[in-house]
Amino acid sequence: MPMQAAAPVPARPSTDSAAARATGLCKVHGHGETRVVALDEVSVEFERGRFTAIMGPSGSGKSTLMHCMAGLDRATAGSARIGGTELTDLNDRQLTRLRRDSVGFVFQAFNLLPTLTALENITLPSAIAGRRPDPAWLETVVAAVGLSGRLGHRPAQLSGGQQQRVAVARALASRPEIVFADEPTGNLDSRSGAEILGFLRESVRQWGQSVVMVTHDPAAAAYADRVVFLADGRLTDELTAPTAEGVLDRMRRYDTGARTS
Ligand code: ADP
Ligand code: MG
Repeated sequence: MPMQAAAPVPARPSTDSAAARATGLCKVHGHGETRVVALDEVSVEFERGRFTAIMGPSGSGKSTLMHCMAGLDRATAGSARIGGTELTDLNDRQLTRLRRDSVGFVFQAFNLLPTLTALENITLPSAIAGRRPDPAWLETVVAAVGLSGRLGHRPAQLSGGQQQRVAVARALASRPEIVFADEPTGNLDSRSGAEILGFLRESVRQWGQSVVMVTHDPAAAAYADRVVFLADGRLTDELTAPTAEGVLDRMRRYDTGARTS
């Protein structure tokens, strides 16, 4: 057992209605000639128990926003909060602990460990934390994503869709404060993608999970309760109860606006 020498992450008061919140968030990559302002004073709230999609053109800062909010990257300025915890106040150990205890991730490339079984991948974060996952909850999550018969399989023995289901179960297993998914359907066929989107949506509906997902697909965004739009590192618009047509329409309007203004 490693020593738990890190100072505890400050307790989260449950008063904030947001599962996560950015305020004036800035991120600058590189220096001098290669300097890129990826986030330019972004302020946005990701509500508790809701499914939020982040959309925007390639390079608009979607992944950077997600990484700064999830504690995978540090902002240059501004505030990033998960529940009541200010990420910019945390040292590296506290940030690691927050990622482990309070955040679930789903990546486009699944990011499973190839030598571990599906079950071992799902329970790895709690194993690293020295905890045993709640067996009833684990069973609920595994059944929800339809993996009950495949827990002994290694990632190479699973389809892409099944691997991403493992990743979704891994993200949900610890009942994190918030789940961040960056293009979770980007490597999947449309049917497997729809399944993953359905699981994410059901985790919000049935369990009150808070989910934030980056996507460039209007059909995927339509699974969310709300869509926020980024362009050039700035939050430009949002849409509640989106439909795929509504999202497409909004994207087209942007195009026109950009050319005429
Ligand atoms: P998106 O996910 O919307 O495609 P990103 O957040 O990945 O956009 O990137 C936003 C901007 O920041 C882009 O101009 C990108 O080239 C730049 N960028 C992202 N990550 C880095 C990095 N590690 N170093 C330098 N520039 C980066
Ligand atoms: Mg990206």
